[in-house]
Amino acid sequence: MKSTTAFSGIDLSQLQTRMLINGELRNASSGSTFTLHDPATGQEIARVPQATNADVDAAVQAARTALQNVSWREMLPAARERLLQKLADLLERHADELAKLETLNQGMLLGVAQAVDVGASVQWLRYMAGWATKIHGDSIDISFPMPPGTKYQAIVRRQPVGVVGAIVPWNFPLLMAIWKIAPALACGCTVVLKPASDTPLTALRFAELALEAGFPPGVLNVIVGSGSTAGAALVQHPDVNKITLTGSTEVGVWIGQQCANTVKRVALELGGKSPVIVLDDCDPAVAAAGASAAIFFNQGQVCTAGSRLYVQKKQFERVVESVADTARNAVLGSGFDPATQIGPLVSQRQRENVLRFIDTGVKEGAQLVAGGTAADRDGYFVQPTVFANTTGRPLTLTREEVFGPVLIAQPYDDLEEVVREANNTVYGLAASVWTSNISKALRVAERLDAGTVWINSHNVVDPNMPFGGFKQSGIGREHGRSAIEAYTECKSICIAY
Ligand code: NAD
Repeated sequence: MKSTTAFSGIDLSQLQTRMLINGELRNASSGSTFTLHDPATGQEIARVPQATNADVDAAVQAARTALQNVSWREMLPAARERLLQKLADLLERHADELAKLETLNQGMLLGVAQAVDVGASVQWLRYMAGWATKIHGDSIDISFPMPPGTKYQAIVRRQPVGVVGAIVPWNFPLLMAIWKIAPALACGCTVVLKPASDTPLTALRFAELALEAGFPPGVLNVIVGSGSTAGAALVQHPDVNKITLTGSTEVGVWIGQQCANTVKRVALELGGKSPVIVLDDCDPAVAAAGASAAIFFNQGQVCTAGSRLYVQKKQFERVVESVADTARNAVLGSGFDPATQIGPLVSQRQRENVLRFIDTGVKEGAQLVAGGTAADRDGYFVQPTVFANTTGRPLTLTREEVFGPVLIAQPYDDLEEVVREANNTVYGLAASVWTSNISKALRVAERLDAGTVWINSHNVVDPNMPFGGFKQSGIGREHGRSAIEAYTECKSICIAY
């Protein structure tokens, strides 16, 4: 292993690779580790601990104890807010370091790591910090007094849901973790975070910053390991009150079934197959730029990636050819190189998955318009790929989530047809509609089965805007008031007087 990497300047021997359990940075109790790779080169960059069941148990017990700990249970909301703000300050101070770490470990473009993965994490922490002092319940008059004539007053409190097991994917490793940690801590919960096994480095450095911020021991714990061992142990642990997952629908279904066994609370942010719908009044150049960004951003490794493009017949060829041009001319390279437009996929395994989908597309008779191969270089690169399906026949690519830079484009005649096609999927995470006719846009938006519909934009998220899936894209909503409701339980206290 080299001590530094060519572009990043990161000293690999100084990486923080230990887990955070009960306020201490620890290796796995068994001493076992696994290897991380730089997706742009395939070279080894670090070895990180592989948590055992005993480590998961220690983290959960620490979180359980911290929940009862006076210094957390009785911490004033304003003090929780200050702690979260302090953590946001630390994140901001170390933004450059964290962004480089993410590019090294995940492969994303450095600009995306700076603006989205780390920049948005700071925003989300600050926004959720503000909620700590604004969580409130209700008071209710009772209409059914027993015995008649008795006076009652009910107070409805919102209390922390308890110990939260947060399990996140590898596409925006730090941001996906913060989407869960920030509201959970604002509500007074304690957290055990399990980042994806391919991309734990920013979460581990973040854990160290949380220690520096002064969170009491056990309030935030970070364990590292595979989904089937550490993740499953966390899901099945009896002392965890809630599991919140961002990941694939397949894993979400399994986790939902496990949680059902003990009626554990569960929130699931899962996969998507989001349609991008272009109406014929839309400027084709605007539509093509929007559609390209919707699918190729972060190499298509975005749950809301616009992976199905529907263009009204008149504009179809022009828009698809323009997206294909963008794909053909994209500069592939390391996320550290400012000239790079398309970075590597996260792992060898993900590259193989994506190439398998491309192969299936070709075999099923979709027309390959651009890309379609791995790039001829080290690292886990796949050419941005555009398929057209002008026959409208059902294809694997129109049904299944690829989670890579692969687009399938299809022409349509009228709005009835496109709404029907867009909704013809088990997923329902997001969609976008491109038109200058706001009336048509709103009518289409109303009828789409999707948790978020963007008009003349795609992939816009905000800490105050609820986010989540219809159908098999998930259960529950993140962000805004929805997140606060997700990490609190309602308790009614009924007083007779
Ligand atoms: P994944 O489902 O394979 O893994 C997600 C997380 O779950 C990882 O930390 C993994 O280790 C863990 N996991 C896997 N099996 C587990 C098990 N049996 N028990 C407990 N934990 C387990 O997903 P991925 O490949 O890391 O990420 C890609 C997926 O995430 C895509 O489907 C994408 O759409 C989805 N995603 C959804 C959103 C959203 O907000 N809806 C956002 C980003 C990504």
